[in-house]
Amino acid sequence: MEYRIPEIRKAAELLKSKLDSLEDKRTILRAPELQALYDRIKPLPPGKARADFGKEVNTLRDELEAQVASSKFQTAKLAPIDVTAPFDVNIKPADRPNPLPAKYGSQHPLTAELELILDIFYGMGFSAVESREIDDDYHMFTSLNFPPDHPARDEYDTFVTDEGLIAPAHTSIMQNRVLKTHKKDLEAGKGIRFVIPGRVFRNEDLDARHEHTFYQLEGVYADEGINAGHLVATITAWLSNYFSKEVKIKIQPFYFPFTEPSFEFAASCPFCEEKGCSVCSYTGWIELGGCGMIHPNVFKEAGIDSRKYSGFAWGFGIERLVMLKYNIEDIRHFESANLKFLRQFS
Ligand SMILES: [Zn+2]
Repeated sequence: MEYRIPEIRKAAELLKSKLDSLEDKRTILRAPELQALYDRIKPLPPGKARADFGKEVNTLRDELEAQVASSKFQTAKLAPIDVTAPFDVNIKPADRPNPLPAKYGSQHPLTAELELILDIFYGMGFSAVESREIDDDYHMFTSLNFPPDHPARDEYDTFVTDEGLIAPAHTSIMQNRVLKTHKKDLEAGKGIRFVIPGRVFRNEDLDARHEHTFYQLEGVYADEGINAGHLVATITAWLSNYFSKEVKIKIQPFYFPFTEPSFEFAASCPFCEEKGCSVCSYTGWIELGGCGMIHPNVFKEAGIDSRKYSGFAWGFGIERLVMLKYNIEDIRHFESANLKFLRQFS
């Protein structure tokens, strides 16, 4: 439809582009831009100009109504699909099932943020290895210096299958694997520098700050002569890079079986320069995660001589960082698949 009146032509273009992204197409008929056109009719002096204006506004409304109706019709016509159905990877891309056109999708905010975080670590000389989503007691506990029946095992509230497999409650399950696999790099004088993103699972009571499934990023650094100063410097460098401003780090003693000494770390609030704001609960500091020097027993389990080599590890939740950055009030949004939430990041 061609609209002769420029104001209406412009509004028509805008409303049609809006219509594409709307989940509930009918809301376009209540759009403020359309209402504004109707509001313009009354003050116009009676005559041909007013009649033409009114006619084109009505035509626009009819056109939008027709588009809303046809979009509903198309939805009803779509054949049901099984998005989990496997297909042969050798099928040509053009012949593969295409359940939803890619233009309607966008990156999940956690994926986007994780890519940004990994880029910073790549620039600092780290490599990345993915965590896994099912594991065993050895990697979840024993390799990390949790003795059998140690009470700290209970603090993780792990999900366990009937066969005794564990849905990992932290990305530290990869520490033993990374150390063991790259022991040869250590002995070749190259050091071990890895970050490990992954999904973790805990049997939590859910609320705005606790979710049963969330993402962590683990870091492992080992070499000769590494001390806690290197740990603080590494975390400071990456967080300053992430928030694009100088961030200070504060550590305080904590307990993890797999690090000695162990710490919790907090960053100076990047949003208020430590003056106090709602993000940092008016303390000037934001608690972010746990860290510490790798325990000699963890090195021993990986076959590494802890008298010669030392190292540090740290871990933090990705959701918490993203929530701080974008002022998101409830962690449950991330796993909700709620399009209204996700589209704010597309
Ligand atoms: Zn603050």
